Amino acid sequence: MSDNKYVYFFGGENTDGNGSMKPLLGGKGANLAEMARIGLPVPAGFTITTEVCTYFYANGQQYPAELKAQVDAAMAGIEKTMGKKLGDTDALPLLVSCRSGARDSMPGMMDTVLNIGLNDKTVEVLAKKSGDERFAWDCYRRFVQMYGRVVLDMKPKCKTDHCPFEDLLDAKKKKAGVEVDSDLKAEYLKELVVEFKAAVKTQTGQDFPDDPMEQVWGGIGAVFGSWMNDRAIVYRRMNGIPHDWGTAVNVQAMVFGNMGETCATGVAFTRDGATGKKGIVGDYLFNAQGEDVVAGIRMPHRIEYTMAQELPHVWEEFSKVAMILENHYKDIQDVEFTIENDKLWMLQTRNAKRTGFAHVRSAVDMVNEGLITPEKAITRIPANDLTQLLQPVFSGEGLKGRTPIAKGINAGPGAATGQIYFQPDEAEAVWQKDNSAKIILVRHETTPEDLRGMKVSAGILTSSGGAASHAALVGRQMGKAVVCGCDQVKINYKAETVTAAGKEYKKGDWISIDGFSGCVYEGQVPTAPSEVLQVLFSKTLKPQDAPIYQCFHQLMSWSDRYRKLAVRANADTPGEAEQAIALGAQGIGLTRTEHMFFDHIEDFRAMILADNVEDRKKALEPLLKYQQDDFEGVFRAMAGRPVTIRLLDPPLHEFVPHEAKEQEALAKKLGITKEKVAQRVKDLAEFNPMLGHRGCRLGIVYPEITRMQATAICQAAVKVMKEGIDCHPEIMVPLPGNAAEFKHQESVIREAATKVFREAGITPDYMVGTMIELPRACITADKIAENAEFFSFGTNDLTQTGLGISRDDYGTYINEYFELDIFAADPFQTLDQEGVGELMKIAVAKGKSTRPGIKLGICGEHGGDPASVKFCNKIGLDYVSCSPLRLPVARLAAAQAAIEAGE
Ligand code: PEP
Ligand code: MG
Repeated sequence: MSDNKYVYFFGGENTDGNGSMKPLLGGKGANLAEMARIGLPVPAGFTITTEVCTYFYANGQQYPAELKAQVDAAMAGIEKTMGKKLGDTDALPLLVSCRSGARDSMPGMMDTVLNIGLNDKTVEVLAKKSGDERFAWDCYRRFVQMYGRVVLDMKPKCKTDHCPFEDLLDAKKKKAGVEVDSDLKAEYLKELVVEFKAAVKTQTGQDFPDDPMEQVWGGIGAVFGSWMNDRAIVYRRMNGIPHDWGTAVNVQAMVFGNMGETCATGVAFTRDGATGKKGIVGDYLFNAQGEDVVAGIRMPHRIEYTMAQELPHVWEEFSKVAMILENHYKDIQDVEFTIENDKLWMLQTRNAKRTGFAHVRSAVDMVNEGLITPEKAITRIPANDLTQLLQPVFSGEGLKGRTPIAKGINAGPGAATGQIYFQPDEAEAVWQKDNSAKIILVRHETTPEDLRGMKVSAGILTSSGGAASHAALVGRQMGKAVVCGCDQVKINYKAETVTAAGKEYKKGDWISIDGFSGCVYEGQVPTAPSEVLQVLFSKTLKPQDAPIYQCFHQLMSWSDRYRKLAVRANADTPGEAEQAIALGAQGIGLTRTEHMFFDHIEDFRAMILADNVEDRKKALEPLLKYQQDDFEGVFRAMAGRPVTIRLLDPPLHEFVPHEAKEQEALAKKLGITKEKVAQRVKDLAEFNPMLGHRGCRLGIVYPEITRMQATAICQAAVKVMKEGIDCHPEIMVPLPGNAAEFKHQESVIREAATKVFREAGITPDYMVGTMIELPRACITADKIAENAEFFSFGTNDLTQTGLGISRDDYGTYINEYFELDIFAADPFQTLDQEGVGELMKIAVAKGKSTRPGIKLGICGEHGGDPASVKFCNKIGLDYVSCSPLRLPVARLAAAQAAIEAGE
């Protein structure tokens, strides 16, 4: 045997792999090996490694030469362990399944083939030995159908294409006079197999393969091939899974949940994946195969309600196994199992996909149960998921006088209101036209093909399928509100209508779904703030009455214990500042002052239209008062925490009226001609305003604006300090690319400050610093830092100028960039570490070279993005600043960064 081991056996005593080998064996393969190792009942099988997948794509879809012999040996191992032979025509034959399994699970995104090993001879033996002819022929019929679709590529290619197998099946049901597949007798199933095979011959020109080993290789090739199908690619992009990881392939002995009424198959969570509540939840179906449960075709039984009565022995064993698995993996497990003649077999375990609610609750509970440490709880919650806990909910006033039109399973918490769409591709098209479209996708059940449509929907409503159906699993992972298994709604795809409580709703009508309660409402239900925000802001809930808040609070206090980065908020008003403090802000990292000018636009317009400095100064006088009032409010709200205030940034053109009528009114008010106003507006117009007369360039040309703003800030600080409240203003210059620009503005600011402080007899602890948002500022940061006391990275503009991509116009082509994998993530949301990040590193190093203790922060949107926060921690920033509602995300991400860096 060669050195390259491509195949790992599992089952019984001879298991090769273990749970730590996910990169090589995929999650499913590694966990099957681990379950076999800890003595759980796992049908024997083998895993072909992800390296083979990589090899397959790098070598024109060929396999390494050593693979065949290794597969043959492992197949012999399965036969020995299970005491059955593939293709056996004397005894009960071995049948195998062939399934994908990537390093991170990608539920339903790749292909599976079941019942491999059946042919015209083995089916007869299976019928005889199982004593159930119908069962054997149903397996064979399913196998030919699945193999045809998956391996022989006979899937419908577009919406109008028919599936030949479904057409034949429908015709057969008609002929037999039955409604459902399971009522078809063996004689009809036999006919169907013949007809299916004929369809294969017609469509592919080839005979259906009879040789079991040829079938196995067909399955292996199809699973590797499915790594590159569209839905798998889309899923990887959405979840940041690299395309070069590859999938493993698991070939495993089949056990049968469809061999009669003492057989069943099911999926379960060891805790609720929607809420995180302790206790097994899940679905099972008697006399069924695995895909029947996840596809949501028949309404399953709920494990937590009926298994103890219906299958008492299995329930006893299954609860024990679930406990063993959860204690072993120290995480919620999502398991698949089959019961063959009352015997339990475990087919899969994996860490469950779950909502943000379930993430937080289960992690906090597990720490309190002594199962994991706070570090573990912090590191395993995706920081972005915390935003789900802050989303609005339906409650109180909004629900008054409304009765639900239907109720289903509350599978994905959240409140969603939107227009009804039935077809995922239509939903996607609507959203592409208008990104603010609110859509509720309404389906019988969802399948992995629906992923793109699910992605753009606010909520998902299905009429069948349980808590572990695809819609529930995937929708909830995406953070969507999901109500599934709602059989009180009757959907008619053809007529594009859904009927509930005796009323018909059409495509485009508004409905609301509540993923907490499972209720569906007509129209647009107004929302109320989340439980967390009701405790923290409106104080309409007491902490002791708010279990979600309690978990959130516990997690945040652990995070604050571990993180090294400080967190600040971007906040412009006292109200926002208060919100920010409630969510943990230690200061304000950016107050944009432009809104203050918009609030008093008439006065500011007078300044813009003034002809000379004196008139300009006069026009600015009332503004000074307004600004001072605003700053006082912010300082009071921040109660001694540092507040960074940025001087005026946007181009003046944004403040003047553009309509003739408005210009005329302004002219009248100022006592000047309308032509003069129109001319000034024309003069201020720029081809490229983002690279135009904005930022410190305004303050340099109109120093009186800078002087007025600095005076307002300093007078506000003095006044508030006299009230006994400490103030730490940090006055920030926008957009310099050049040390001389900064120096100019700094001297205007300091002069104004000195004057105010001398007159008041108080000097607050204040700083003058700058935004770093141009590449040139990064490269010359050493010179800028000679005068600037702090840097705050404006990564919105730094991304815009560093990448040369307009932050306002990139929406038209960015989707194409994602589709082509040119960008893995939106650079305006997740910092481009390779480019913009390198510029930041230069600025940090150069800034520290001339001012070692320089205070460093970030106030671009990236300050609330987990990956960017971790990067900021790595390059040694002191704080990140983001919008108030992103603060919990930033706090958790900062703690994760510190723990992962071993700080
Ligand atoms: C930035 O450019 O990152 C920034 C915070 O400033 P603004 O978004 O106001 O341009
Ligand atoms: Mg900016």
